[in-house]
Amino acid sequence: MGGDDAIVQAARVSYGKGTSKVSQDRGLIRYLMRHRHTTPFEMVEFKFHCKMPIFVARQWVRHRTANINEYSLRYSEARDEFYYPEPENIQFQSVLNKQGRTGGVSKELKQKVNQYFKEISKRSFEIYSELNEAGVARELARAVLPVNLYTEWYWKNDLHNLLHFISLRSDNHAQYEIRVYSDAMAESVKKAAPFAWEAYQDYVVKGMRFSRIEQNLFEKILPKRVVQDILEDIAYQITATLHYNKPRKEADLFQLYQKQRGSDSESDFKLKWDSGEIEMGNVRELREFISKLKSLKK
Ligand SMILES: Cc1cc2nc3c(=O)[nH]c(=O)nc-3n(C[C@H](O)[C@H](O)[C@H](O)COP(=O)(O)OP(=O)(O)OC[C@H]3O[C@@H](n4cnc5c(N)ncnc54)[C@H](O)[C@@H]3O)c2cc1C
Repeated sequence: MGGDDAIVQAARVSYGKGTSKVSQDRGLIRYLMRHRHTTPFEMVEFKFHCKMPIFVARQWVRHRTANINEYSLRYSEARDEFYYPEPENIQFQSVLNKQGRTGGVSKELKQKVNQYFKEISKRSFEIYSELNEAGVARELARAVLPVNLYTEWYWKNDLHNLLHFISLRSDNHAQYEIRVYSDAMAESVKKAAPFAWEAYQDYVVKGMRFSRIEQNLFEKILPKRVVQDILEDIAYQITATLHYNKPRKEADLFQLYQKQRGSDSESDFKLKWDSGEIEMGNVRELREFISKLKSLKK
């Protein structure tokens, strides 16, 4: 339900209507994501019909912000549907990462794993069926079934919390078997809310946060001239972006650049300007970057 439009519509309740071009919508969504103004993202809702092994569902269900309706084994009979890992996903326990796998399993061992998975699934389902036919309560009989049995549910969540889910479950620390579901849901997000997805990639997935200790290191070690070079580059980028958004007369460009605290001489400015190498960005974001840099190197 909804997409980028719903995010923008909700945000404009707090920021006022104004004119709304597509580029402004994108900018607004990026601003919201950057500043962790999250509630507008809650206005978009996703409902998935999912089928997964119970051991995956156990991890999934820890995400408490979703609404779930699951297939009931008290009410209905279990189906003979079990998860068997593909050979390439049968790996050894990683020694370095307690929650990870590592390769190198022989073909014979892989076959054995596959055979055991199948044996236990088949046998447990036979016992389950026998108990069922004898009239034993389904809610009890189901307890003999292993966690590679498939269950299914409807899972509804809003975009903010879905992105949180994806950030945890599409991460390579997450187990492969849940990651594939998370990656599939990510595809839906990409389609339904492409600007939000892009902003999420830029500011959450690829964004970095520095701890106080790390910032202290930057403050001590980062040479002042490097910061100065970056600030200089930003002055050019802001000038180019402002000029692109609202073209100025050629003669006014140097002054505009100086207003952005650019410190090159007019002749150097002209050389650089004519080089065509100046990148553009988002003015607000670039200015935010200036204040971050300045706070780092007072
Ligand atoms: C790689 C990995 C390994 C994990 N290993 C383990 C493990 O070994 N053992 C284990 O038990 N779990 C484990 N988990 C589960 C993990 O601890 C979280 O329970 C799970 O990822 C859900 O995260 P969440 O609480 O942020 O999400 P959600 O439940 O969706 O909540 C979203 C956000 O809402 C807020 N929130 C929701 N409910 C509350 C509440 N009641 N109180 C306060 N704030 C709330 C929090 O800010 C939370 O971040 C693991 C998860 C991952 C991704």
